[in-house]
Amino acid sequence: MVAAGGRISGFAMSDVRMKGFARRSTVAQALAWLDSHLRPLPEQTVPLAQAYGRVLARPIVSDVNVPGFTRAMMDGYAIRASDVQGAGPYSRLTLRVIGCSLPGRPFAGTVQSGTAVRIMTGAPLPAGADAVLPAELTECSGERVEAVGDVGPGKHVGKIGEDIVAGQQVLPAGRMLRPQDVGLLSSIGVAEVPVVRSPRVRIVITGNELLPAGARPEGYRIVDANGPMLQALVARDGGVPELIGPLSDQPEIILDAMRGPADVVLVSGGSSVGEEDCAPLLVRQHGQLAIHGIAMRPSSPTGMGLLDGRLVLLLPGNPVSCLCAYDFFAGRAIRAMGGRTTNWPYRRVRLPLARKIVSAIGSTDYHRVRLVDGSVQPLAVSGASILSSTTRADGFVIVPEDCEGFPPGAEVEVLLYDDLQAASV
Ligand code: AMP
Ligand code: MG
Repeated sequence: MVAAGGRISGFAMSDVRMKGFARRSTVAQALAWLDSHLRPLPEQTVPLAQAYGRVLARPIVSDVNVPGFTRAMMDGYAIRASDVQGAGPYSRLTLRVIGCSLPGRPFAGTVQSGTAVRIMTGAPLPAGADAVLPAELTECSGERVEAVGDVGPGKHVGKIGEDIVAGQQVLPAGRMLRPQDVGLLSSIGVAEVPVVRSPRVRIVITGNELLPAGARPEGYRIVDANGPMLQALVARDGGVPELIGPLSDQPEIILDAMRGPADVVLVSGGSSVGEEDCAPLLVRQHGQLAIHGIAMRPSSPTGMGLLDGRLVLLLPGNPVSCLCAYDFFAGRAIRAMGGRTTNWPYRRVRLPLARKIVSAIGSTDYHRVRLVDGSVQPLAVSGASILSSTTRADGFVIVPEDCEGFPPGAEVEVLLYDDLQAASV
C-alpha cells in the first residue's frame, strides 16, 4: 500500500531499506529464476522488407523450384553438344543461327542438329539444345557461327531446381534473418514472413536528480545516461523500447509507470536499499519480488520479479551497474522473448592479462579491460558510477564467484563490446 507523502507502509518484515541486503542471491540463482520465466512471444507476420534481423517463427518450405526453367549460365550459343564435338581453332565447325533467347524472352523454336540460338546468361535454354557454347569459343559471321572449341552435354546450363527444390526447407525456425535470407525468401515468392513478435520493453527511469536526455547537466542535477543507453541495448537485442521518465522517486508514480503496456519492464534506479528506493517494495507488494540483491560487482542492487504477470527487472541507477545488470539479465530476457539466443551478444577472445585482476570469493565480477598490443589491460577505475570506464574499454572479463582473480600472464576470456574493434586484435 502506498501511504501519503510517498512512503510505503506494510513492509516491516521485508523492507531492506537502510539496512542492506541480508542475503544475496548468486548470479546462477538469478539466472535460473529468470530462465524459468522466459518464453518466446507468439508469432506475427511482417512484410519482407521489414524481415531483416527478425527471428523466423516457423521453418520456411519452398513450394517452387528455383530456377523454374533450364537456363543459360553464360553468354554464347545454345547448341547440341554433339554438333560441336572435336571443334577447335584448326577444325572449326559451322552452325546456322536461327534466333535469340534473352532473359525473360525465350526462343520459341527448337534447336535442330546443325543450328544454334544466340543466348544470354539467365535466358531459358531452347528446346533441343543441351549445352551453351560460350561466346569466347565462337566466331560469328552474320547468320552463321563458327565453333572454335567444344563443350560436353549440360555444360553452362543451369538445371531446374539447382538452387532450390520445391518441397525443400530453405530456412529453419529460430533463424535470425540475414540480408541474403531475405533475398532468398523473395526468390521463392514469399511476401509476408512469420516472425517472433519483438518484445515491447518499457524502460522506466527513476531519480529525483535526473534531467531528461537532451538537457545539460545543471547544478546538482545530472542528465539521464541510462535511458538512452538502455534504449540502444534493447534495440540491439531486438526489443522495441519505450522510454518513460525520468520520473521522481514517488512510489505511486513509479508503480503507474511500471504498469503500462509492455512485454517486459526495466526500471532504472531506486533498486537498492536507500530511503528513496521504492521499486523493489512496489514489486513485492503488488507482485512477486523473486530476487533482490545479487552477489556480483557491480550491480549487486539488482532485482527481478513479476508484476501483473509480467517480468520486471530492477536495474541499479549507477550507469556501469545498469549496463552490467542489463547484460547479465535484461538483455538475455529480451533476446529469449524475441526468439533469439540467450548467449552473450559479444564475441570472445582469449588473451594474456597484462596485470592481475583481484576479485572477492563469492562475488561474480565484471572487469572492464582494454586490449593493448595483444594483451588484456584491466582498467584501474572500478567505480560503478564511472561510465567512461566502459567507453574507454574494449570489453570486459567476468570473474566467476568461486575465483579470486587471475595473475599477470594468465589467459583470460574477454567479451568484446564491439566486433569491429576485434578485427584489429
Ligand atoms: P540509485 O540506483 O537510484 O540509487 O542511483 C545510484 C546512482 O546512480 C546515483 O548516483 C544516481 O544519481 C545515479 N543514477 C541513477 N539513475 C541514473 C541515470 N538514469 N543516469 C545516470 N545516473 C543515474
Ligand atoms: Mg535513485
